[in-house]
Amino acid sequence: MNIILLGPPGAGKGTQASRLVEQRAMVQLSTGDMLRAAVKAGTPVGLAAKSVMEAGELVSDAIVTQLIDENLAALAPEQGVIFDGYPRTLAQAESLDALLAKRDRRLDYVVELEVDEDALVDRITGRFTCAQCSTPYHDRYKQPVSAGTCDVCGSHEFKRRPDDNEETVRTRMAEYRAKTAPILPHYEAKKIVRRVDGMASVEAVAKGIDAVLDG
Ligand code: ADP
Ligand code: AMP
Repeated sequence: MNIILLGPPGAGKGTQASRLVEQRAMVQLSTGDMLRAAVKAGTPVGLAAKSVMEAGELVSDAIVTQLIDENLAALAPEQGVIFDGYPRTLAQAESLDALLAKRDRRLDYVVELEVDEDALVDRITGRFTCAQCSTPYHDRYKQPVSAGTCDVCGSHEFKRRPDDNEETVRTRMAEYRAKTAPILPHYEAKKIVRRVDGMASVEAVAKGIDAVLDG
């Protein structure tokens, strides 16, 4: 099964993707994670992307599509994929169609997480992740079970993203409204869009997504 998790920054895509990876042995392809790795490694892609990401704007379609292509090429054909943070423009959606078709992959669902914008700033400014395995947490909504220890890998190191500040979040939301939300009709036409209430608890959102995938 191949799915897209769609929603504005902070909607819960990464949180739900990491659960699906654990529970369904799917692979999460997050262009945000790939770009952050490239920035950290100082590759040419990272150098091109760094200031764009810090401003909360979108990196070029060509760069992210190339990253997705390379990552898909490394997977076994039967491996299920969760696209997280890609596609973000209509051009990316069209490129993804072509990338999937050339590998005989089918897109099963686009799961849109519906959230109030007001809640997103709060979610994003309280977000932190495990420095080892990137499991997402929140200062108030999702602390590790044992304080200071990652639930998944046991690491004691955590980090916060430089772009998770209120000003950048507003730009990222505006980018989502202007460039990403307009890709929904592309998938509505294929009758694969399913909506899940992203304002519910992490567990309730997970149940909503499971109902879609098992339906
Ligand atoms: P995205 O990948 O869509 O940007 P994340 O999954 O990183 O979003 O979630 C953003 C923040 O909100 C994280 O700190 C996460 O722990 C928290 N979060 C995710 N889902 C929920 C939820 N349903 N209720 C409350 N907080 C949530
Ligand atoms: P994310 O981790 O999905 O919140 O993405 C963090 C940042 O990486 C975004 O604000 C963009 O600057 C960049 N980015 C991630 N994915 C894409 C994409 N598909 N297209 C363009 N830019 C992206």
